[in-house]
Amino acid sequence: GCADPASALTGTVGAFLCRAGQHLRAAAIEAPRLEARLLLAHAMGCRQEDLLREPRAPVPPAAAAAFATLLRRRLEHAPIAHLLGEQEFWSLPLAVSPATLVPRADSETLIEAAIAAFPERGQVRRILDLGTGTGCLLLAALTEFPAAHGIGIDRVPAAAALARANAARLGLGGRAGFLAGDWAAPLAGRFELVLSNPPYIESAAIPGLMPEVARHEPSSALDGGPDGLGAYRALCAGLPGLLAPGGRAVLELGQGQQAAVEAIARDAGLDPLGCRPDLGGVPRALVL
Ligand code: GLN
Repeated sequence: GCADPASALTGTVGAFLCRAGQHLRAAAIEAPRLEARLLLAHAMGCRQEDLLREPRAPVPPAAAAAFATLLRRRLEHAPIAHLLGEQEFWSLPLAVSPATLVPRADSETLIEAAIAAFPERGQVRRILDLGTGTGCLLLAALTEFPAAHGIGIDRVPAAAALARANAARLGLGGRAGFLAGDWAAPLAGRFELVLSNPPYIESAAIPGLMPEVARHEPSSALDGGPDGLGAYRALCAGLPGLLAPGGRAVLELGQGQQAAVEAIARDAGLDPLGCRPDLGGVPRALVL
């Protein structure tokens, strides 16, 4: 607790972490001690591991002020990734913004499913990512399919710009192009691999999601319409015209949506080939 000797020294790293941890715990933040370290390290411009080693180090006044602002926003349930400006996906550091969804570990299941769908990785030359957001799916796929180029599309221009900046930062700018536009609009070209994590939450369920999501992530990335399936209807209608011979689409599913999305896919003339579970056992990555 805050009574231990290091944290009793006011103005030290230990004291800041201890008090912040208590506030975060009281706000029902799941990993209060870790988040306190991440935010203080961000404010101090160091790594969170460094703080564990130096609990008696002083926190400079400018860092203390920055930390207070970060802590206040986290207590308002701003996602930690928004405050740090970054989220790791498939071991890639990606810039994030409130314009689009923060990459989720569950979505890494789509990359695993894509790898499993193409035992011969050189077969994949063209990848399309519909609703690219930060670009996480396309950029991760490009690191796994070295012969491929890819296009990411997002109807939110700020998302396409963010994804483009992420590609450049990772040295993938020469293999990835990003467009702002409607994914349902006809697109010239065929792709061996089409990826998408579409918005799939039922409109009425959004206010009940955790506040980090409901209040701070954009409905453009979440809202799947009254039954949550609107984006799948649009996607599946377009996929037959986008897949190259032998091509595969890998779509992220919301919990409990597998049967309904498979039915939509079949109606569009697509064959469901399997569904990979995420780490929580939820069927997550549908292969068509
Ligand atoms: N996985 C997100 C959530 O549950 C939803 C993402 C989406 O709609 N594609 O918050």
